[in-house]
Amino acid sequence: MCGIVGYIGERKAQDLIYKGLSRLEYRGYDSSGIAALREIGSDQYETKIIKAPGKLKELKKTWNEFEFHSGLAIGHTRWATHGEANQVNAHPHKDGPITIVHNGIIENHQEIRAELKKEGKSFSSQTDSELFAHMVHRERNQNKSLLESVRLAFKRVKGASAFVVLDERCPDHFVVVRNGSPLVIGVGKGENFVASDVPAILDSTKNIYYLEDLEVAEISRSAVRVFDLDGKEKKVDLVEIKWSLDEID
Ligand code: GLU
Repeated sequence: MCGIVGYIGERKAQDLIYKGLSRLEYRGYDSSGIAALREIGSDQYETKIIKAPGKLKELKKTWNEFEFHSGLAIGHTRWATHGEANQVNAHPHKDGPITIVHNGIIENHQEIRAELKKEGKSFSSQTDSELFAHMVHRERNQNKSLLESVRLAFKRVKGASAFVVLDERCPDHFVVVRNGSPLVIGVGKGENFVASDVPAILDSTKNIYYLEDLEVAEISRSAVRVFDLDGKEKKVDLVEIKWSLDEID
């Protein structure tokens, strides 16, 4: 298992992600990482990533690289399945403007890796997860939206997986998708969240949408839109969580 947290809003995203990940430590992990968008010019962003093997607090050693205010960040605690537990294989993984975190296993990774290699792609890690960043990037290069690109790339993936995906050219939203691995969306006021489990975001919002298998969602500051894998929009029925963090602690 691993943990995923994502945030978009006005508050300092990196801090919320760290706190959220610490709430998911019970799930077990061997390394962790966070990616945050940083404004570098008018409407221009870069993706800043820090990662480290070992405990979550290892991220604090390079936290000075995060001394900027980001409104969009995603984070991950990894339980290695493909590629050893080290710095390079820790998530997030990036290809060009696309950055992803992943919970699960891409079962057909060999076939996809071979296909991408044929197209001239090279890889930075030994993980199955990195392939998905390349797959989404490939769709984006065909002029498809981020939502569309994630939807189409995910159709190719076999096995249980959940992904959170951002594109530094689209600082106003990110996209999540899942099949067989858990993801919940937390809806706030002018801010929204995603996480593997409710405790990660419960001190910020009690309004939750449990993303279903084979659903993809586009999450911006003010809206959550959910679609099936054929692109048909679905109704978002929120659940109000009645218990508090103290109760589960
Ligand atoms: N299969 C991926 C990896 O080994 C994700 C593992 C996880 O769910 O943490 O990096």
